[in-house]
Amino acid sequence: MKLRALSLSLSTLTLFAVLPALSQTDGAAPRKITTPKESIGFNMGDDYMMANYTQATAYIKKLATESDRMKLVDLGPTAEGRRQYMVIVTSPENLAKLDHYKEIAARLSHAEGLTDAEAHALAEEGKAIVWIDGGLHASETVGSQQLVETIYELNAFTDAETMRFLHDDIALLVFANPDGMELVANWYMRQPDPTKRVSEGPAANTPRLWQKYIGHDNNRDFYMNNMPESTNMSRVLFREWYPQIMYNHHQTGPAGTVIFMPPFRDPFNYHYDPLIPLKIEAVGTAMHERLVEEGKPGSGMRSTAPYSTWYNGGLRTVTYFHNMTGILTEIIGSPTPAPLPLIANRQLPTGDEPFPVAPQLWHYAQSIAYEQTNNRAILDYASRNRTTLLYDVYVMGKNSIQRGSEDSWTITPKRIEALEEAAAKAAPAAGARPGGARTGGRNAPATPEAAPAAAPAALTPAPESNPFVRPTGLPAALYTTVLHDPAHRDPRGYILSADQPDFPTAVKFVNTLIKSGVTIERATTAFDVEGKHYPANSLIILTAQAYRPQILDMLEPQDHPNDFAYPGAPPTRPYDATGWTLAYQMGVTFDRLYTGFTGPFEKITTDLAAPPAGNIAGPAKPAGYLVSHEYNDAYTLTNRLLKANLPVYWLKQTTTAGGKTLAAGALYIPYSPQSRDLLETAAKNLGINATAVTVKPSGDAFQLHPTRIGLYDQYGGSMPSGWIRWLLEQFEFPFTVIYPQTLDAGNLNAAFDDIVLADGAVVATAEGPGNRFGAQPKPEDIPAEFRPWLGRITADKTIPQLQKFVENGGTLLAIGSSTKLYTNMKLPIHDALTEIVKGKEQPVPSERFYIPGSLIRAQVDNTQPVAYGMPSTVDVFFDNSPAFRAAPDASTHGLSTIAYYGDGNLLDSGWAWGQTYLNNSIAVAQDNLGKGKIFLYGPEITFRGQPHATFKFLFNGLPQPPPS
Ligand SMILES: [Zn+2]
Repeated sequence: MKLRALSLSLSTLTLFAVLPALSQTDGAAPRKITTPKESIGFNMGDDYMMANYTQATAYIKKLATESDRMKLVDLGPTAEGRRQYMVIVTSPENLAKLDHYKEIAARLSHAEGLTDAEAHALAEEGKAIVWIDGGLHASETVGSQQLVETIYELNAFTDAETMRFLHDDIALLVFANPDGMELVANWYMRQPDPTKRVSEGPAANTPRLWQKYIGHDNNRDFYMNNMPESTNMSRVLFREWYPQIMYNHHQTGPAGTVIFMPPFRDPFNYHYDPLIPLKIEAVGTAMHERLVEEGKPGSGMRSTAPYSTWYNGGLRTVTYFHNMTGILTEIIGSPTPAPLPLIANRQLPTGDEPFPVAPQLWHYAQSIAYEQTNNRAILDYASRNRTTLLYDVYVMGKNSIQRGSEDSWTITPKRIEALEEAAAKAAPAAGARPGGARTGGRNAPATPEAAPAAAPAALTPAPESNPFVRPTGLPAALYTTVLHDPAHRDPRGYILSADQPDFPTAVKFVNTLIKSGVTIERATTAFDVEGKHYPANSLIILTAQAYRPQILDMLEPQDHPNDFAYPGAPPTRPYDATGWTLAYQMGVTFDRLYTGFTGPFEKITTDLAAPPAGNIAGPAKPAGYLVSHEYNDAYTLTNRLLKANLPVYWLKQTTTAGGKTLAAGALYIPYSPQSRDLLETAAKNLGINATAVTVKPSGDAFQLHPTRIGLYDQYGGSMPSGWIRWLLEQFEFPFTVIYPQTLDAGNLNAAFDDIVLADGAVVATAEGPGNRFGAQPKPEDIPAEFRPWLGRITADKTIPQLQKFVENGGTLLAIGSSTKLYTNMKLPIHDALTEIVKGKEQPVPSERFYIPGSLIRAQVDNTQPVAYGMPSTVDVFFDNSPAFRAAPDASTHGLSTIAYYGDGNLLDSGWAWGQTYLNNSIAVAQDNLGKGKIFLYGPEITFRGQPHATFKFLFNGLPQPPPS
């Protein structure tokens, strides 16, 4: 019944759409806008049908020739080498002045050099810029198909509302993942018989990731911009078009609902402007409203789903740090019809789910229709609130500039904790709660140890959270002395000195900011600030700019609240990571400046910053060259030398040359015309300095040899493995991707020197090792070419082969959960995160220990080759990662600790509940087995291609010298 009504309205709209445009003058030929069906062969949303990117691009190119409302824009290449397209749709009048409206949006977004009156005038004149994307997560297929339909409807429809949208708005319609759209649609459509096409189960999953390297993590790359698609889209968002609203389509809706839409639950990130949560609320509410108006039930918000706005790095979330209103929705639907189930607690209307939906067989066309409603709700909101949206973007930018130009404070849970502590000290008898009792979070006990181990405590609200008890308040002076303590001011700016050990990596860091629209300055000459001398080329980031929230979020620690649903509850899982401070992850050295400063600075106006050319000091024809091991790009250079069959050594002792002292691990490169050439190129392009020496340094040295690296992956694709694949390519390591069947076949030493197991390849299960990937298809359900990828690491077949590989001299590098194979191989090491309860060893429960994606400080023994070039203290990305303790006889077995967690507080950014459980445990260990080596890396040393500070743990483990 409902469905019939829906299809009727869709076809009515389609009929209406092909009528001559109302705006056309009499006598003109009727507009002919090709429908998706006429071009592709079916309607978007037809059962069992899905369009691929080839079809979509052919279609939009055709529309570009027919419509006077659209412009096709090539955003750049994708990871697989396709072209990524954006379609701009607006009125023909606006199209003729696109650059003008782009300029208005840019000026308001940057908020520089404008008076309020000028901003009002620009807002009046400007057009609302609205971003709508589709298909970012390609397996969530409603996204890409609704986008094709949206492009059609906005070009074809001539109703008054559409004409108003076109007049007021400029819509940026973006294919977010072309490669994935092609792969997923072709995979789904490979069955000639439509009814055999499946959207669920193992046979529905593509054999490899639907973004070449990182699959679903393509929505975790937006402060880092490692991938070309992220870079393309960030450029449109933060350097070209500055939309006021962006809408990012996802799947799937919570069971028993159709769609999750904002507003989102807390916590929100403390760095962004307070207008952001309000605007999300307003736009989200308008979307729910329109669905309900149109009789489309089943939308939920806030508590319906785990989405918060804490995380940066998603396509939607990164926009908050740029004063933009980012909307994410999660809808159900697939071309293969599927039941929408009856779920009891979804049927009672609540403030978060006002209009429950009846159980039914759900068709793709319904999802497409819902998304048209949502897109129109956003375009309508933008049209009706155009001037306010444009002006408020200016207000937020102006606020950022103001906050960066004067003393300003970001209030986080730790500051609230400090306030409560100070209040307790000031008036202990007055009933102030003892310090840390709330720890600035929800229902958190003072310490993890104080958490009740068993049943939840009674839900007695704290006095100040009970709305019927009027709190007396704390001494008001504490607002100034604690919350506005000068020692806790936000920085006015940052200086990244050019004389830091790996300055080229600091340049890579600022390039992530530049891609994200942040203004970076460079010192043209040496200068002094607050008594410290900085060389020319040092980089300066001033916080008095519109995207200050992004700057603070990349350089300051995240302070996530201790989040518990009720006292004694397990921690409430965050949406994603809780701490990611990119400058820490990348090991960048920087100074914070708390008062205004100036110097010989110029803005970097090139597309990206380049490292200053390195310098090769010393005689022209030396015995050889020394290069610091501290450069990550020393590996790029090394791999080029090895590829050319040129010798490279790691010096085992500290070396002094040309007045510089190089720590153990320095590269020694014997002179030859070819090595000089490669070194000059590396100096010029990678910014590497080298020192020529007239004699080879004395002392022990390892000569490096080209190694044959096998990187484990499997059917369906592993994101952690894909990230490593990408990383190895960036640093020019040669390698082969290998699958379980290859490992099980044995004789691994004949083909490999190193085998890398990313996080998730091995996980502990009750039955022994398994892995984190879902069920696999039956071989007969997939084409023969992909069958060699099937399989998984097993205790009985795979682990013995891996053990043999190591015993015969191979090197095994296991990260995260994959370290768990130490139990099978009986290495002298234990799980550190267990406790004895009633005589039985068991994991520490999350009520007492919980670190969901945070930066944790580790101590590093950088005298060991696998840690050469690293500082003695480093932040590691810890994501409920393993940690180890050595068995009593470990050292006699050859186990060595490479990195460990020290005493006391270890958290540098994020949320670490019960972090002292980590104290004095091992983060990274090396063990010898037979003639080979195993490296066990507990933390995520290559996490999403971000922690440049810990890449060396992996890289140093690869070109291992032969055992001495
Ligand atoms: Zn998604």
